[in-house]
Amino acid sequence: MEKKQFKAESQRLMDLMINSIYTHKEIFLREIISNASDAIDKLAYKALTDEGVGLNRDDFKIVVTPDKDERTLTVSDNGIGMTQEEMENNLGTIAKSGSLQFKKETENADDAELDIIGQFGVGFYSAFMVADKVTVISKAYGSDTAYKWESEGVDGYTIEPCEKETVGTDIIMTIKENSEEAEYSDYLRPYFLSDLIKKYSDYIRYPIRMEIERSQQKPKPADAGEDYKPEYELVKEWETINSMVPIWQKPKSQVSEEDKNTFYKTKFGDWQDPLMSVQVAAEGNFEYKALLYIPSQLPMNFYTTEFKKGLQLYSSGVMIMDRCPDLLPDYFGFVQGIVDTPDVSLNTSREMLQHDRQLKVIANNIEKKIRAELVKLMKDDREKYEKFWSAFGMNFKYALMNSYGEARDAIRDLLLFWSSKENKLVSLKEYVERMPASQDKIYYVCGDSVENAAKMPQAERVLKAGFEVLYLTVAEDEIVLQMLENAEGKSFVSVASEDALPVTDAEKASAEQAEKDHKEVLEFVQETLKEHVSKVRVSTILQSGSVCLTAEGPISLEMEKYFHKMRGDYPMKADRVLELNPNASTFQALCAAYDSDKELAATYAEVLYNQALIIADLPLPDPARYTELVCSLMK
Ligand code: ADP
Repeated sequence: MEKKQFKAESQRLMDLMINSIYTHKEIFLREIISNASDAIDKLAYKALTDEGVGLNRDDFKIVVTPDKDERTLTVSDNGIGMTQEEMENNLGTIAKSGSLQFKKETENADDAELDIIGQFGVGFYSAFMVADKVTVISKAYGSDTAYKWESEGVDGYTIEPCEKETVGTDIIMTIKENSEEAEYSDYLRPYFLSDLIKKYSDYIRYPIRMEIERSQQKPKPADAGEDYKPEYELVKEWETINSMVPIWQKPKSQVSEEDKNTFYKTKFGDWQDPLMSVQVAAEGNFEYKALLYIPSQLPMNFYTTEFKKGLQLYSSGVMIMDRCPDLLPDYFGFVQGIVDTPDVSLNTSREMLQHDRQLKVIANNIEKKIRAELVKLMKDDREKYEKFWSAFGMNFKYALMNSYGEARDAIRDLLLFWSSKENKLVSLKEYVERMPASQDKIYYVCGDSVENAAKMPQAERVLKAGFEVLYLTVAEDEIVLQMLENAEGKSFVSVASEDALPVTDAEKASAEQAEKDHKEVLEFVQETLKEHVSKVRVSTILQSGSVCLTAEGPISLEMEKYFHKMRGDYPMKADRVLELNPNASTFQALCAAYDSDKELAATYAEVLYNQALIIADLPLPDPARYTELVCSLMK
């Protein structure tokens, strides 16, 4: 029979599995059993609406059969099975080949291996860590023909029709011979297997059955005399190995942190412990149990269309939906977990679920619960919260912008910004709580880093006055503040805004005087820079700096930058105002040049404008020209 080739990535993965030095080879069993359970989930769901399935909930099971003589370990399920095409597609290629990048190829091969096995679980392929040959016999629900898929490794696989009476799948693994590095025969010992099942698959909700041989005392014969010695015999009995109680159904007190973490890693294919888990048991009008996780890192595919947010939804032990998106708002889209409720009717179609009132109430409660836990974490374990923030903070900002601010009340308390006080991250609530009585606004300054924001000449005045300033270092931040509208009733104001700090009468009078005194110079600068700025004025906000750019009108410089970043050709431009500090020596030099050498004055004006652009982290219109101008001054 012709051998078919694996797709390139699958071939490499397979090779990796066959030659694996991974120390936890035993996880293959968990992967195979979890596939069997998924397949049963699918048929059990079908059985709810399709009488043709002919199976009840109690009929479903997974059977594990070791055969020492044949050196085979078989895992059988009566789940949905696979058609020939599904075998091709699901076993011939890696389901997640898109995200599976062999990025570390050129680096240390051992590390790459651990990384891949750890990160992706690698599912079905992990069987090749312990088996020389894997045979899959499967009959799909609704199909008359069964098929046999077989592979001995990298050189390919075969598929042919075969006999199988019942619907479901048998995975037959021919276990490797023992070697120096591993005692593969262990995977043929019922007790060993039983321990593995208890360790990794205890929560599986279908019975995992195995025939176990036990030594049993023979019944005492009726005529046994005084000196009767009990006799023993070996009896084989089918036993259910797993407790079948899903971890989320157990009382909190019986579930250790480690149990929850292990479950998370197995179930959601993460290789790291979650940052936090939340277990909920709600009673009352709407009864449900939930086990929720906040991963410690943003999933790699989070910002791709491949990522589907949602929680797994169970009703009375049957999985209704793998990812129910309606259970999570977008801003908590990174949360993983399970919700189990008897209150959702099993016969509700997936489309109808969207409108299910009970589900809405549950979603609402879950949202509140997650938020409350995060607020608590922020208070009780700041370091951990900041770790969370660095992984997921941006998601809050995007969600706020995507909803045009609708999510503001839900996430305002979760946001952190860098602050001038103590050089630490601060929440808006904390900021407002420590505001002096004389302050009525929340100040911010934008810059491309905390260091640069702190040095923005516009910020000096507010910082000197002793007020705390938020350093906005992400392009989206200013828009985020706009969408928030306020925090604790206080509005946000840029330090560059004229009304950031009230200008005293004396300051105002002195600026007006300077405007009058230097009217001609200012007009000259304006004329020189007319293509670039809409106004040139004497600054009331600059302290020691010579020059800065501000904006008039509804679009700030930061917004212009942001829109430019999103779409290069976006026509939205800020009205730029060049502010000059009349007390700076540069201004005096400008005035002197204006009186004696107009060409030099024009050069000064251009240089000052370019400097303002550099400080504002805006692109220079003509960097080569700017360099020439500066060089010409150094002659
Ligand atoms: P994953 O389970 O993460 O999708 P696997 O490599 O473990 O990846 O399995 C690939 C696919 O093969 C599964 O998604 C499923 O469609 C199919 N499959 C594996 N085992 C079974 C089984 N016992 N019954 C039905 N389908 C199966």
